[in-house]
Amino acid sequence: MTFFFANWKMYLGHEDSLLLAREIAVEALRNEGLVSGIFPTMLSLNSVADMLKESALCVGAQHVAWAPKGAYTGAVSAALCKEVGSTYALVGHSERRYIFGEKDVDIRKRVGACTEVGLTPVLCVGETAKERDAGLQKKVLEKQLVEGLAGLSFEKDGLVIAYEPVWAISGSGDGECCDPLYAEEAHRWIKGCVSDFLTESVPVLYGGSVNADNVVSYISQKDIDGVLVGSAATTKAGYLAIQRAIISTL
Ligand code: 13P
Repeated sequence: MTFFFANWKMYLGHEDSLLLAREIAVEALRNEGLVSGIFPTMLSLNSVADMLKESALCVGAQHVAWAPKGAYTGAVSAALCKEVGSTYALVGHSERRYIFGEKDVDIRKRVGACTEVGLTPVLCVGETAKERDAGLQKKVLEKQLVEGLAGLSFEKDGLVIAYEPVWAISGSGDGECCDPLYAEEAHRWIKGCVSDFLTESVPVLYGGSVNADNVVSYISQKDIDGVLVGSAATTKAGYLAIQRAIISTL
């Protein structure tokens, strides 16, 4: 199975999100080998999920609270995300870690909150340029994986991991191009690392400046099971071109 997830971050307004979801839903191709998902802003999650109900696409939240319910001003629980139609939720995206100060201990609670209600968490991990240059990539990934997941259990297909080196992310990161072979090596290492404490195999997606021109170079790698795309998937033309490129390889 190959995954194509579009993280719309906070790029689009509500009306623009609905319009783009509608346009994509009309033209998106169904393919048995592909899981396509849109992660709109929290405010548009409900409407985008309604819009995509009968389509080939699923919907995910960009973030969830670790608490299930109660006096948590501004928070949105995993159960609420699920109730309005989400199947997935991003957890521990680098923009949450480095801009909003999220720690692995909170991330683990968010992952657990997702599994508790049947929402599939997409745990995002990745090193910064400084960590890479200091030779700390594996150490950082191991900490994020172990502290984000250890002790939790997942059903088959109940977890996705996204490797997003912070230095390769456009906008919040440095937007450097990540060599597909570097990404492949990280994916292989991540799969080996989690196999020490998880029983099921886990798909690992690549994210960081993916676009229609380079997507095939990533998904053609053995251990890259799909892509998590930000800015290049925020237009109809961009989204559909990436999807077409992926489908051409299936
Ligand atoms: P870009 O594709 O804009 O670099 O963003 C990647 C990302 O952070 C997806 O979650």
